[in-house]
Amino acid sequence: MPPPIRSAQRFALPLLAALLAGLRPLAAQSPSGDPRSSDPTAALLQELIRANTSNPPGNERRVAEVLLPHFRALGIDAKIIPTPDSTKAVFVARLKGDGSKRPVLIGAHEDVVGVEREKWSVDPFAGVEKDGHIYGRGAVDFKGGMAVFARAVLMLAEQKIPLARDVIFLAEADEEGGGGYSTSWLAREHWDEIDAEFALNEGGWIMKAPDGHVRYVSVSTADKLSLPLKVTAHGTSTHASMPRPDNAIFALSRAMAKISEYETPIVLTAEQRQFIQTLAKTSKPPMSTYYRDLLGSDPAKAKAADKVISKDPLMHSLIRNTIAPTLINGGFRVNVIPGSAEATINLRMIPGSDPAQLIETLKKVVADTGIQFTLNTPTYPRNAPSPTTTDLYRALEKSAKAVFPGVEVTPYLFQAGTDAGAWRAKGIPVYGIYPYPIDDDELSRMHGNDEKVSIASLRQGTEMIYKTLVEVAGRK
Ligand SMILES: [Zn+2]
Repeated sequence: MPPPIRSAQRFALPLLAALLAGLRPLAAQSPSGDPRSSDPTAALLQELIRANTSNPPGNERRVAEVLLPHFRALGIDAKIIPTPDSTKAVFVARLKGDGSKRPVLIGAHEDVVGVEREKWSVDPFAGVEKDGHIYGRGAVDFKGGMAVFARAVLMLAEQKIPLARDVIFLAEADEEGGGGYSTSWLAREHWDEIDAEFALNEGGWIMKAPDGHVRYVSVSTADKLSLPLKVTAHGTSTHASMPRPDNAIFALSRAMAKISEYETPIVLTAEQRQFIQTLAKTSKPPMSTYYRDLLGSDPAKAKAADKVISKDPLMHSLIRNTIAPTLINGGFRVNVIPGSAEATINLRMIPGSDPAQLIETLKKVVADTGIQFTLNTPTYPRNAPSPTTTDLYRALEKSAKAVFPGVEVTPYLFQAGTDAGAWRAKGIPVYGIYPYPIDDDELSRMHGNDEKVSIASLRQGTEMIYKTLVEVAGRK
């Protein structure tokens, strides 16, 4: 267990006041009068949710302003770094170590995706506590993680843990939206603030089984690489009253129809193999057998297993490079046949896979030399997985096993992109975790409606991340 949390005392007086007033007897009140959970991580999460940072537009400075007093109150070196957009700001806090080791960075994005408010049963920006959960946009992605990471760092200061390395806490802008002040901007403008030996951000999962026990902990060591591929068809631009055989829209449609029938092959890196082995060990038959077959040497069995496993869109995307058409464009008037038509396919590549090879395959699938394939980014970042041999990965593994006894810990490929690129591009290992046990239902609400996280999970996650930081940064 982590040491007792001193700040709990701060909640005693407001709680008494609430009891005396006969109002909300189970919840404390913040100075603004909003109910506040008695759990410090949950209470911080409520504050973060109430600072609406839906991106666009983001307004991320609001989150930086929520965080600053919590760190300053403990005398931690903390600051708000402005961006050229006055509504967007980055927050950085640094706990000093003795300098014998290079810093560890723990980061979380400040922004969230927007909401379809009418589909929520509660106000998505009120930080409602209900049935042992905190509800609100960002509860899972990623204000819950930010609250856990921040509380773990604050506890290091509260407990005056002597540190061998600096612990940097970062809250960054523009992860969910397309604004220009993401971690790539931060790395360009303020590298000295975020330079570290390794970093932790969002990524893997602490997955719960339906009966509530933790099945496994996955720590992401790589993100898939997202690339835009343009597919263009050409034809004669002419009057729509005299169509010709070389219609660009028909040619593009034929090509896209062929691509839609094509399935990319299974690609398994060493990390993915370990992840699938963990799934095999922690699943019940028949799924456990399918996972074993996927790794086995019988191609027919692997293919049959893939059919079942890939019914889950997440699993489908984790074991192969994926092809998703996302834009299509052609023509400008009803009576003009356009000279070209164009589609954009979003390729998501597994680290180590060669995009050029996939494009060659697609050319063969389409079998039409008139169709052009253009990768819109001729250069793309190095995408090697972070090693599982670093002190940070080992500390995550050790603390996960301490908090969830007997649990399997596995590296994991994150199916989407995260902020990790800014460090990975410089060869700095980055790991990812959503630091709270979560079940399928809670997972499905991420970016959806009635997003929520359990307070018990926040407590366990805080304990795990606190232990991780003590292990990786504490002076031995
Ligand atoms: Zn996120």
